[in-house]
Amino acid sequence: CGIVGYVGPRPSTEVLLGGLKRLEYRGYDSAGVAVIGEDGTLASAKKAGRLQALVDLLEASPIADGPTGIGHTRWATHGGPNDANAHPHFGDDGRLALIHNGIIENFSELKAELLAEGFEFSSETDTEVAAVLLGREYRATGDLREAFRRTVSRLDGAFTLLAVHEEAPGLVVGARRNSPLVIGLGDGENFLGSDVAAFIDYTKRAVAIGQDQIVAITADTVEVTDFAGAAVEAEPFEVAWDV
Ligand code: GLU
Repeated sequence: CGIVGYVGPRPSTEVLLGGLKRLEYRGYDSAGVAVIGEDGTLASAKKAGRLQALVDLLEASPIADGPTGIGHTRWATHGGPNDANAHPHFGDDGRLALIHNGIIENFSELKAELLAEGFEFSSETDTEVAAVLLGREYRATGDLREAFRRTVSRLDGAFTLLAVHEEAPGLVVGARRNSPLVIGLGDGENFLGSDVAAFIDYTKRAVAIGQDQIVAITADTVEVTDFAGAAVEAEPFEVAWDV
């Protein structure tokens, strides 16, 4: 399983697929990407099977590429390894995409709460609960960072989470608890990865995200906070890696 995020001038899909390829050694059963295109609309593709199956799908039905994207390889824990359960998952209006490695332990309580409010689900994953919750919180706040902070504060278990929203092009938000997340610092571009391998082809300057922290990256900025929203100092290090 693996996670990649990107904001910058390169075509995101290429960066995401390259990063996922680098993370293949961790094992997975499905893969997917979501990109906010130049035109500001969210496009995605996901597929059970090898990364090559996703590459073939993208070749057969290309999506509009753009500067902001997230990519995922899944190791199924809740719901079988099929296309519907592959990530990304979406908010109820389809305007945000979210990916997750780990397990959301309290997903059934949250799902019951959301079902009672009339929300519908299209997968059997624990992850979709976080996506639908984020959509609800986004509508309540109109702010992706704040909505994401509220969402992750409701989750128990282990998670590396990334999300993008059509109304916040140029921004990827992420969080971690009991599961790794690292920032890759570029020049006019920034990366996120569950492992430095995700962005090692582009930069060796990295920042490890601490337990229960949230990150927001744009092409030029990196912001780390705790789940309460208080700023955390980011301390860059050089990745020792011979490519
Ligand atoms: N629990 C999630 C799922 O089954 C994420 C699994 C993973 O770590 O890839 O979809």
